[in-house]
Amino acid sequence: MGKCCDKKDVKINASDPCHPPQPVRSGSPNATSRVWEPGVPVRAYQETPDGVITNGQPLAWFDNMIPNCLAYATDAKAQGKHIVGIMCEYTPRELIMAAEAVPVCLCGGSAEMIGPAEEHLPANLCPLIKSTYGYHVQKANPFLEMADLVVAETTCDGKKKMYELMAETRPMHVLELPQKPDDADALAHWISELRKLKARLEEAFGVTITDEKIRQAIRTMNRERALRRRLADLMKSDHPPLTGRQLLQFKSNISGMCADFAQYTRALESYVGWAVPTNLQGVNSTTNGGHSPPYKARVLMTGVPVVHGAERVVEIIESNGGLIVCMDNCTGLKPILEDVDETAADPIVALAEKYFRLPCSVMTKNSRRLDILRHLAREYRVQCVIDLIWQACLTYDVESYFIKKLAEQELGLPYLRIETDYSPGDSARIALRVEALFETVRQRACA
Ligand code: SF4
Ligand code: SF4
Repeated sequence: MGKCCDKKDVKINASDPCHPPQPVRSGSPNATSRVWEPGVPVRAYQETPDGVITNGQPLAWFDNMIPNCLAYATDAKAQGKHIVGIMCEYTPRELIMAAEAVPVCLCGGSAEMIGPAEEHLPANLCPLIKSTYGYHVQKANPFLEMADLVVAETTCDGKKKMYELMAETRPMHVLELPQKPDDADALAHWISELRKLKARLEEAFGVTITDEKIRQAIRTMNRERALRRRLADLMKSDHPPLTGRQLLQFKSNISGMCADFAQYTRALESYVGWAVPTNLQGVNSTTNGGHSPPYKARVLMTGVPVVHGAERVVEIIESNGGLIVCMDNCTGLKPILEDVDETAADPIVALAEKYFRLPCSVMTKNSRRLDILRHLAREYRVQCVIDLIWQACLTYDVESYFIKKLAEQELGLPYLRIETDYSPGDSARIALRVEALFETVRQRACA
């Protein structure tokens, strides 16, 4: 984690180690390899004589997210830093950063990894778990191969049991997540789990995690969350400058990268004309490049995370005329809605309180998810709700009962539940159902 991440005005400069240059992109945006090939160079930096990078369009930067992260992790490793893999938003990245290590998300989004995973795992398991595990057995995720430690969070049953298989060959710390978020003793247990993680990191990496180091990491993560929240806020506009698919692109498998912060800032500056939530009727959005009506419906997408490589349903929704103005899932707003108290006397307690409030379906009861959805539906003025469930994700699947009831009965919004996996076989059927949903929205608007 660079100290520069706390600075407000971040400039990209090739001579500054905190701001590595923009990698040159080769091939199509989809050329970012999802399957790592050992020995293949991960980047080719473009340097200009004065060190200024000239091709740094923010979306292009995040299109290249995997190579960017790979370059960052490779450099960190070469500097003697440790890499820690995580697989859930409950793990406070701040603790890992405070151990002078790099937290990397290992969640798999590749359909290619499902087959290899099914040699050990049952077919009837969520594709996110299988893909993550497939990378493990294939040794195809460079971040996992670099990882000195994997933090495994006890969330859903499928993940918990998969971790046991992974732990046969990888150093792993199991972080036990209590599942009753409203109980005081559950929070006490969670605090003690975070203290155990801190001790494990200190022991494994021979470092001392001081309160001040944790506070520094909290400031960095708060800044990242704030930048991403401001980007998400742009979607409140009548004429958002981004599609939901583009907004989804503004994230990184490694948090706290100063170069990412620079690109978030640059993106916000370039969209400054879209101060939100303003009524932009009459603005020529073609001139401004915004995503203007007529889109068929403003969509709130909820449910499972849409990890890198698994964006198919998002693309189907928007290629059929929807505009996803808000995603409440773990790859959207859920983890960035709240910050950590930077001034708390005990920063571990502050971390525990923030992360324990994450409204995941593994919690019982998970009424905070409903509260957040009520709020987001109003803030983003959505016209329908689409609930994405990865096949065999029992917790989100069961919880869809409450989401449907909330959408239809309380909010008066059309609701569509899409259960699918990573294979494209049902894309045409999903498109038909999405079109029918948008027709319902249209009919209601005309009524
Ligand atoms: S949906 Fe739940 S289990 Fe999955 S990453 Fe988010 S918090 Fe973790
Ligand atoms: S999507 Fe559901 S089943 Fe899959 S890892 Fe997340 S909580 Fe578990």
